[in-house]
Formats: sequence, structure tokens, C-alpha cells
Amino acid sequence: MTHDVTLIPGDGIGPEIAAAMEEVVAATGVDVRWRRERAGAQVYEGCGTPLPDSVLEAVAETKVAIKGPTATPVGSGFRSINVALRRAFDLYACVRPCLSMPGDGSRYRDVDLVVVRENTEDLYAGVEFEAGTPEAGHIIASVNERTPGAIRPSSAISVKPISPEGSERIVRYAFEYALSRGRRRVCCVHKANIMKATDGLFMHVAERVAEDYPDIAFECRIVDACCMGLVCDPADFDVLVLPNLYGDIVSDLCAGLIGGLGLAPGANIGSECAIFEATHGSAPDIAGKDMANPTALILSAAMMLDHLGEPGAADAVRDAVREVLAEGTSVTADICRALTDSAEGAVGCAAYGHAV
Ligand code: NAD
Repeated sequence: MTHDVTLIPGDGIGPEIAAAMEEVVAATGVDVRWRRERAGAQVYEGCGTPLPDSVLEAVAETKVAIKGPTATPVGSGFRSINVALRRAFDLYACVRPCLSMPGDGSRYRDVDLVVVRENTEDLYAGVEFEAGTPEAGHIIASVNERTPGAIRPSSAISVKPISPEGSERIVRYAFEYALSRGRRRVCCVHKANIMKATDGLFMHVAERVAEDYPDIAFECRIVDACCMGLVCDPADFDVLVLPNLYGDIVSDLCAGLIGGLGLAPGANIGSECAIFEATHGSAPDIAGKDMANPTALILSAAMMLDHLGEPGAADAVRDAVREVLAEGTSVTADICRALTDSAEGAVGCAAYGHAV
């Protein structure tokens, strides 16, 4: 069967890691027909937008996309291309599996956890009012009328919306993910002791949804203690489900547990479409030098193959990455440095991709 997939190579190291990823997917034998689309800073000058309509049309048609990192040009009217894509396709679940591999350069050996981050609400909803604006003044005045002195009049304001519907669909997604992959525990991460209305709502919804999944163990942890637990004993975690902001921070922390951003894959999933992407940025400092580590995008492609119903090919990709990292003779400079403090003997992005 032929799978149509939109490929957005992106900016900086994007085209290099995308080429390595394409070679690996081709080696699985799965028939993927790529529909190439350009987005990011590179298209902004020609098109006047970093996210041309053709990209949105392609993703809407293929339903599945894989994307390299994109830079959002200042003044383009976009806060972030990634946020715009998440909005356009209501990609409400950001999934980041973190799995230790021998030779990944990390301090930890036994990490096998999945971060499920809510992608549409919370402080990332983009509802902010600058200090001194009438909108901020109006909110401050009405709060201070009820609780005098609660907010300094000079404050900027950011709004943190958390809805029962938004919370329920992400928590249910986390439980269904755990069920379908034989995972045993879901941990709801929150700060409900301080933010009783918003995080409290998220936690209570999670407690209620957990009752529908009696075979999956459920617990709640406060985000600060959870971070300490992750650093002290990451093997103690299985599936984590979090509101947007904590999810963003904790997923990068977890990437650090498995050797850094160059190794951490990710997916943004909606009810209709899914976009798979490396979690790191466009790394302008090493762009065009054949130095990037394409592992994160290659492992994102493995997640994509699972999503396309090609689990054998997905496992083959993960096994190949594991083997090449464990062997340690064809690895990129970031991995070499993590292992030996020197980049001597490192191979380039293309050679690593070829080895995988
Ligand atoms: P970055 O992730 O691009 O780089 C941080 C550091 O990590 C750099 O030293 C870089 O060389 C290194 N690095 C990152 N990925 C690597 C890889 N695959 N292999 C080896 N080394 C790697 O973060 P930044 O510098 O803060 O951001 C650069 C640009 O990327 C910005 O324009 C930012 O907006 C954008 N960005 C895009 C995404 C995305 O599209 N998903 C995510 C984050 C940042």
C-alpha cells in the first residue's frame, strides 16, 4: 500500500536531517509517496508568509506529515509556525517517547517513559495583555476590586484557560495510548495545590477518567516534585500526562535523560491529522555543515510508521538506530562529545543516516 505523506524539511539543519530520514524510511521498503512542502524562514521572503496555504492544503489532504525544525521570522505575523499548525489541525496531543539506548551519551540507562502534553490550552493559548494596555487595566481593576492589592497595576497579564473538554480528551488519549502499548501506569502532573481552579480542574478530570481504566495504575504528582523524581529515578515513570506549559518543560527535561534533543522524537496528534517532528530547533550554528544528528527525526519517522499501520518497519528503524548507537563507530559529533568530551572520529549527518 502506498502512503501519502507531506514532508516539510524546514530551516537550518532541516533539509540535512530530512534527507537522512528519507533514506532510512526508503530502506524499510514501506512505500511512502512524499509530498514536499516548504515552510519557515526560507520561504518567507519569496511568499510573504512562512506558512503558505499549499502546506496547509497538503497536510489536510495527506492527513500525515513529518516536519523538520522551522524558524519563525520576526514580523511575519506568526508567533510560531508550530503553534499555527497545531491550531489549524487541532493537534491536541503532543507525544514524546523517551527511551534509553546504549551509547546515547546519557547518564541514565533505563529510561522508558512517554510524555503526553496537552497542546491547545493553558498559558500557551496566546491570550496575553501587555502592561499598561486598557485590556490589562480592565482585568487588574476587576480583580483588585474583589481582592484589593492582588495584582500590581503595572502588571502584564497572561490568561491560563483549562477546560473540562480539553482536559478529558488529553487524559483519555494518555490512557488509550497506555492501553494500546501495554503500558501500566499513568501519572497526572499538575500544580493543583497552588492553581486550584485550573490545574485542580485538570487533576479532577484525570481522576474521573482514570476510573474508566481499572487495569492501568493511576497517580498524581506535583510538577516540581515530579521533576526531582525524574532526575533522581526516571525508571520510576511510565506515561505522564500534563497541561501544556509543564508538558513543554518536562518533555525537554526528559529529552535530557536520553542524550539530548538530537535524539528525542515527537508527534502532534489530532483526531484527523498527525504531524511528526524532531523536538529540537533549526540549529543555525551547525546548519549546512553535515554535523547534525538526524536521530530525532528518524525516530519521529518510526512513530509515523506506527501511525501508518507499519509497526514492523517502525521497529526495524528503532532497532537500526539502537544498533548503530551501540556500535559507536558511526555516530555524530554531539554523541561523540557526550561520550568522550571530543568530536574526534565523528561521522556526518549523511553517513550516520546511511549507517542506520
Ligand atoms: P536549537 O535546538 O536549534 O539548538 C540548540 C543547540 O542544540 C545548538 O547548539 C544546536 O547546534 C544543537 N542541536 C539542536 N539540534 C541538533 C541536532 N539534531 N544535532 C546536533 N545538535 C543539535 O535551539 P535554538 O538555537 O534555540 O533555536 C534555533 C531556531 O530553531 C529558532 O529560530 C527557533 O525558533 C527554532 N525552533 C524550532 C523548533 C521547531 O520547529 N520544532 C523547535 C525549537 C526551536
